[in-house]
Amino acid sequence: MHTETKKIIQDSLDALFENETFLPDIPNRTQAFTSLSAILSTPNNIHKSFLRVPLDDESVVRIPAYRVQHNNALGPYKGGIRFHESVNEEEVVNLALLMTLKNALHQVPFGGGKGGIAINPHEYSAKELNAISRKYVRYFSDVIGPDKDIPAPDMGSGEREMDWMMAEYKLIHPGIAYLGSFTGKSVVNGGSLGRREATGKGVYFTFRYLLYDYVKANEELLSKSDNPFAKTTLEIYNRPLKMAVQGFGNVGSVAALEAYNCKLIQHKIVAVSDRNVTLFNEEGLNIPALVDFTKTNDGDLPSTEKQLLDAEVKAEIKDRNSLVTLPVDVLLLAAMENQIREDNMKDVKARIIIEGANAPTTTEADHYFNDKGVVIIPDILANAGGVIVSYFEWLQGRETQFYTEKEVYRLLIKKMKETMDMMLPQYYGDPFALRQNCFIHAVMRLSTVLYHQGKLY
Ligand code: GLU
Repeated sequence: MHTETKKIIQDSLDALFENETFLPDIPNRTQAFTSLSAILSTPNNIHKSFLRVPLDDESVVRIPAYRVQHNNALGPYKGGIRFHESVNEEEVVNLALLMTLKNALHQVPFGGGKGGIAINPHEYSAKELNAISRKYVRYFSDVIGPDKDIPAPDMGSGEREMDWMMAEYKLIHPGIAYLGSFTGKSVVNGGSLGRREATGKGVYFTFRYLLYDYVKANEELLSKSDNPFAKTTLEIYNRPLKMAVQGFGNVGSVAALEAYNCKLIQHKIVAVSDRNVTLFNEEGLNIPALVDFTKTNDGDLPSTEKQLLDAEVKAEIKDRNSLVTLPVDVLLLAAMENQIREDNMKDVKARIIIEGANAPTTTEADHYFNDKGVVIIPDILANAGGVIVSYFEWLQGRETQFYTEKEVYRLLIKKMKETMDMMLPQYYGDPFALRQNCFIHAVMRLSTVLYHQGKLY
């Protein structure tokens, strides 16, 4: 496990340990906290295998694949399957832990898990990806299932892969109520309306709520606070803002479109980036035109002058890594982990960072920004929309009753608002950063349940 993640867990446990009103009747506090630390820092199961897959040219590859089941005290393991060449065991373990905490924080009745397949999906044909997805299910078919461990999409995977995987699961386990075995499926195949956009919409909602709705309702209270984060929030509130969005996939493009369409906050999206390029326009980018372009360009943004002309978008083309240090007020990180690190953190100008991706800010950078009063909306708070709507999809699949898109969004926003309303007063009222507050809260919820299940004593 990352030493960084371990450190955040340890800090949260220390804070809880010092709070004597928390689980006051545990007989041996020191022992209980030692076992809690062990439970959090080690996953329950690590399943790994090499998927043997024949390719179109008849050669055969062996692809590393993982399913990590971190903790299931709060419900069946739950989390996406990442298709990316950088996938490795340590990364999947960390992401599985984040799922445990994310679900605990938002009161989603699931535990945490994560899967990964170490390939660059752009290098494989649809037929090959189908074979890889089905092989994954075959290899792990005993350990996943609607009441055991429910995978979903993650970076590099989507509805198509979930549809294939559920079909394979159904073949292997005839008779099981298979709709709940995977979430993030296409709507025609038993998926939920609104699932595809859920993460991006939720990410933008957390920003809008923090910077608009909450401040509007609590302006006087915040102005009396000497908390540095309250000061930053007030400084930025009601000002024209420049925003940059890193990553233009399922999370970044939807969040950017939400921002583009939201008139409550005066903001312009001046930059977006993807794996090839950064596009910059001081006057604001035409996000709907960019979204349309990506639909016919394998998900990629325009990366040449000709493509910009085709897309009818005015922008300057820059290096893909330049986005995070542009002169903007808000940085929305929706690409992948470790994007803001010791080597680039000092050049970041944003005063608000929203983590649409999982773990995009390293611990060093996190500390640096906290000391400077930069507001970070952390991953487990900001990007939970996906798993929240996955939960609704799982419920709908069980009941075989489907909600309207409007109902899905209403329920999503309700859930995220409940969490924000619980976290924000603490955030502006005590010395911890929002990430720390969220971790403490999630660990508290998990430990209370572990205690009642007799796993902590
Ligand atoms: N992969 C997404 C996440 O990191 C969604 C997981 C899910 O829907 O289970 O939260």
